[in-house]
Amino acid sequence: MISLKQLFQSNSEKLQFIYPKQEAESLILWLLEDTLGINRQDLLLDKTIHEVPDILYSHIKSLLEKKPIQYILGIAPFYGRSFEVNENVLIPRNETEELVHLIIQENKQLNLRILDIGTGSGCIPISLKLEIPSSKLFAIDVSPEALLIAKRNAEALEASVEFLKVDILNEEIHLNNLDIIVSNPPYVLDSEKSIMHENVLNHEPHLALFVDDDDPLIFYRNIAQKATSSLKKGGKLYFEINEAYGEDVVNLLEEMGYTEVILRRDLNDKNRMVSAALT
Ligand code: GLN
Repeated sequence: MISLKQLFQSNSEKLQFIYPKQEAESLILWLLEDTLGINRQDLLLDKTIHEVPDILYSHIKSLLEKKPIQYILGIAPFYGRSFEVNENVLIPRNETEELVHLIIQENKQLNLRILDIGTGSGCIPISLKLEIPSSKLFAIDVSPEALLIAKRNAEALEASVEFLKVDILNEEIHLNNLDIIVSNPPYVLDSEKSIMHENVLNHEPHLALFVDDDDPLIFYRNIAQKATSSLKKGGKLYFEINEAYGEDVVNLLEEMGYTEVILRRDLNDKNRMVSAALT
């Protein structure tokens, strides 16, 4: 018989070689929950199990190699739901949940037409479709591998979203009359690679993360330009941004003629979202 508490303790100690205590403990709890089907209460009651499945040890080995737990388990939580992820898509971030939340709070009209650019796992359009059911959702990405995951997520979560393969920097968006365009484009500078955590740098898709230092606003300028013909009058743009470029994105949009340009901070008090209206 193996005690859950002991299993938790011994493995959390192993992880503490490379993770801070609290993170090690929450990682091991997440692994135990997923691989043994137990919950926190089973652990508190110190229930026992007959044997430890090998998969638990291989997962711990992967964690020690700094593979993100979401890729190890193939799932990531986002806005109250579980999304399939693999190394072809960015792991959904809390900041992006905030962006989705902002859009839901600000747009209560019926029958909105919404486009997400650079959709990755599809977490943004799928969440919006499920939270605003009367809306019509479109989502594009340059990566066929990402679109495959996004489509699987939409199907699994029963959200109807139209996915299209579009390279936004080199192709047109053949959609119009949109109420909202949202995007969390690549915004980490190539020169910031040196300060990124290994788990991000070695496992997450660079295509979704990094942008050339020579033109950090390339995605924002390109999307805002195309949006002038794809958005309705009064339609809105919602961007997630690099905290260092808040003012620059605001200035760019104002120079392009957008109005109601608002810069917002995330829960960590960093400049993280910009919204604007096309008038
Ligand atoms: N917030 C992500 C990170 O810092 C970056 C997301 C993005 O580039 N769009 O890892």
